[in-house]
Amino acid sequence: MSEEFDAIIIGAGVIGASIAFELCKRGYRTLNIDKLPAAGYGPTSNSCSIVRAHYSSREGVAMAYEGFFYWQDWPQYVGDDDESGLAKYMQSGTVLLGSGTGHHEKVLRHYRDLGVEHELWDNAELRRRIPIYDTGAFWPPKRPSDPHFWDQPAGELDGAIYTPGSGYVNDPQLATHNLQRASEARGGKFMFKAEIGEIRQADGRVRGVTLTTGHQIDAPVVVNVAGPHSFVINRMAGVEQTMNVKTRPLRHEVHHVPSPPDFDFEADGFHTSDGDTGIYFRPESGNHILIGSEDPDCDPRMWVDDPDSYDRNVTEAQWEAQVYRLARRIPSLPIPHERKGIVDLYDVSDDWIPIYDRSDLDGFYMAIGTSGNQFKNAPVVGHLMAELIERVEGGHDHDHDPINVKAAYTGVGLDAGFYSRLREINPDSSFSVNG
Ligand SMILES: Cc1cc2nc3c(=O)[nH]c(=O)nc-3n(C[C@H](O)[C@H](O)[C@H](O)COP(=O)(O)OP(=O)(O)OC[C@H]3O[C@@H](n4cnc5c(N)ncnc54)[C@H](O)[C@@H]3O)c2cc1C
Repeated sequence: MSEEFDAIIIGAGVIGASIAFELCKRGYRTLNIDKLPAAGYGPTSNSCSIVRAHYSSREGVAMAYEGFFYWQDWPQYVGDDDESGLAKYMQSGTVLLGSGTGHHEKVLRHYRDLGVEHELWDNAELRRRIPIYDTGAFWPPKRPSDPHFWDQPAGELDGAIYTPGSGYVNDPQLATHNLQRASEARGGKFMFKAEIGEIRQADGRVRGVTLTTGHQIDAPVVVNVAGPHSFVINRMAGVEQTMNVKTRPLRHEVHHVPSPPDFDFEADGFHTSDGDTGIYFRPESGNHILIGSEDPDCDPRMWVDDPDSYDRNVTEAQWEAQVYRLARRIPSLPIPHERKGIVDLYDVSDDWIPIYDRSDLDGFYMAIGTSGNQFKNAPVVGHLMAELIERVEGGHDHDHDPINVKAAYTGVGLDAGFYSRLREINPDSSFSVNG
């Protein structure tokens, strides 16, 4: 490839493709490089792609709420350049159960402050809206091996917060392909089955990348969007030691089970965040339910040293933990004999809040540490990173005077300093997938 590029983006997941699209809209000639055969084939393809706003911090809620509008507006946002069709936004709404985590109380303050549309449901309303739910409180979350796992609930849930604007994207890989095509329509290029082996630099500035084949490609800007491989790329660039917040891969399982046969969860179910039992779940096609973990303290954290080598099989222990927890919330849930699910990696930061920032190497940027919860924010991050790159390349000292980016739909100011690599660990974080 002998063309010249303004920016090389390492990775073609949903965030890498979003950054490309937003930079292309600003006239940058971009190149996304990914070692996999197509866009969104890494962890993005296994994402539950849930779009919800309940983050611990005001900044987290503001960014996620902004995300609602991109997904609701998807056909207008990406245009109609994709021969494969467009990903669909399934606006199921979210039910955040009031639990011993206190997360709902934190979130409610931010919803009120930011004007996030919501309703407060008491347990009677919750049962009326979703008659298959048991509104008992099983807190704290336990593993099925705990002798008290099947105990009668000690009390009742603290109601729920319902947000009608949230939901999930039906096909995260297709959404990424949509972004690829939208970028290409504005001149962006994508190179697949190509692996970055070196970040080249001279005089304190990035110069480009070298592929493992030895092929060199130059650009004044290089962006690390390598997901669970982000730390590998940061080490190649020699910037990891200068960061206060770091990233590492965490193994996660998501399981699929059929809904109770007499309830159409696909049509009438809600994405539900159940901190009381330690899971989240959402409708899935075929009247199935997809179950993820909210990382309760009783569950072991499966950190992975080598993101190219980890156990990709669903384990009996975690399957039972997540499926049986759902069976506590939905007592009529049929427990299948076959264990279905996926295993993939989160790229987790020290405080489960992403790093969207420049680095100590001029021209080298990163959008990493997405901690299992940034699919929803991808287009917002594209906008924020494009603005950050443009301003910093224009001479702005972001480290000392963090930029504030106006959100395209809500108009809220997004404080990019919140995502700094130099920040202190944020004590308000849930230190879980809830961010
Ligand atoms: C099981 C699971 C469930 C999730 N559920 C949700 C959810 O419900 N809602 C939500 O908002 N978020 C969710 N997430 C998180 C979300 O999917 C991620 O934050 C998002 O997909 C990250 O996108 P990305 O572009 O950063 O990276 P990735 O999809 O991680 O892509 C990184 C790419 O970089 C490439 N790469 C790495 N190293 C190199 C190299 N050396 N050379 C070339 N290419 C390289 C990889 O091949 C890969 O394609 C979930 C994640 C997982 C794993």
